[in-house]
Amino acid sequence: MNNVRCEVLIIGAGPAGMAAALAASESQKHIVMLDDNPRPGGQIWRDGPAAVLPTLAQFYRQAITALDNVTLLSGTKVVAQSGPQQLLYENDKGCGTIDYQRLILCCGARELLLPFPGWTLPGVTGAGGLQAQIKNGLSLQGERVVIAGSGPLLLAVADSVTQAGGKVTLLAEQASVTSLARFASGLWHWPEKVRQSLRLMNRHYRANSYVLEAQGQQRLTAVRVQQGGKVRTIDCSRLACGFGLVANIELAMLMGCRIENAAIAVDDMQQTSITNLYAAGECTGVGGSELALAEGAIAGYAASGNIASARALLEKRSKWQRFAAAVSQTFVLNPRLKTLGTADTFLCRCEDVSLGQISRHKGWTAAKLNSRCGMGACQGKICATAARYLLDWPLPQPRVPLTPVRLETLVNLTPQPPKDIN
Ligand SMILES: Cc1cc2nc3c(=O)[nH]c(=O)nc-3n(C[C@H](O)[C@H](O)[C@H](O)COP(=O)(O)OP(=O)(O)OC[C@H]3O[C@@H](n4cnc5c(N)ncnc54)[C@H](O)[C@@H]3O)c2cc1C
Repeated sequence: MNNVRCEVLIIGAGPAGMAAALAASESQKHIVMLDDNPRPGGQIWRDGPAAVLPTLAQFYRQAITALDNVTLLSGTKVVAQSGPQQLLYENDKGCGTIDYQRLILCCGARELLLPFPGWTLPGVTGAGGLQAQIKNGLSLQGERVVIAGSGPLLLAVADSVTQAGGKVTLLAEQASVTSLARFASGLWHWPEKVRQSLRLMNRHYRANSYVLEAQGQQRLTAVRVQQGGKVRTIDCSRLACGFGLVANIELAMLMGCRIENAAIAVDDMQQTSITNLYAAGECTGVGGSELALAEGAIAGYAASGNIASARALLEKRSKWQRFAAAVSQTFVLNPRLKTLGTADTFLCRCEDVSLGQISRHKGWTAAKLNSRCGMGACQGKICATAARYLLDWPLPQPRVPLTPVRLETLVNLTPQPPKDIN
């Protein structure tokens, strides 16, 4: 088994992780950044055969590649804590441990998927999920696509669908017209966002709208949608549905970090409740790439001992924290969304466990012991997160390994002596 050692270890190479690496690299410390995706960029700057990376993403990638003191381990996932200041990882070459002096968690966020009748039909995906497939080369030529759920991500996904040749027939946003109007009237505080909204605005955007049912036999053929006071049926071959984002906090929970409002709690310098352990970006609260970049840079400077440079970025971070607060206020989910699934709608789509089978239990552990919910490929990332929203259950304490791993990795869940990276 491979062992490596570094002074600053960064988990996640999205905007937060890349900004942290760049800032920390100024100290000349030895930095390792790892990410389970094949290329750096995280969610917003996900690379692929059909992805067009913005200039800012290219800048970060080139700057990091040019640094001698930053080692990037792509296609590598952290699966457990294997000792004090040591993590266990797995990649296509095998598994290994990394020893660190300071750790920065930049694990990002994932989509919140909520069950409704028909949500497991082929043709129905997450909104960001469809966008990821498009960046990987999926063509939507000739396809009719409904995009639904909540939040600014839906507009970005509609843009990607159009670029891929698809026809967006409806963009259903569950938030009310009043909330959206209030948000729009305050947008002038962030001129970059005014420009972005004008570029992404879609004429099929409808407020007060949500999908009631996905219909079809072998795959999706139509959706039934509540649009204001009316119910409409719309023919489509794809439905991309996401109800906002939830922070990836499992690794932080495993390590014992304090969690607040379902995100990693951090102080002014992005330090968690554990000494030498920092966190930045959407794992500390969903707020967009600009906030992730500012937080990442603060964490990188703070973790490498450059407190003055970290402090110089506090005002920038506040600006984007105010934007994040306005977004979360605007796109609060309508409680009616909790009632869309019926007793026989699957909650756990990996193991085919229905809402009825789960909701009769008092909590996630009891539900898991009495059914197979959360025991499939996603290990509860989708269904336990949905159950937290639907049933007000606390998130279960994660267990190692964090994701399914090879047997070789499982048997190596013990600390190993460290070794330098070449
Ligand atoms: C599916 C999806 C699509 C999105 N698309 C857009 C968009 O088009 N436009 C937009 O403005 N915003 C988009 N967002 C929001 C966007 O994620 C954020 O604004 C921004 O990317 C947050 O940056 P971050 O660095 O905090 O996290 P992320 O960009 O999410 O990066 C976190 C990285 O950490 C990695 N990671 C997590 N845990 C581990 C682990 N245990 N081991 C190894 N690696 C790990 C992840 O794979 C990921 O690459 C999207 C979000 C999601 C979930």
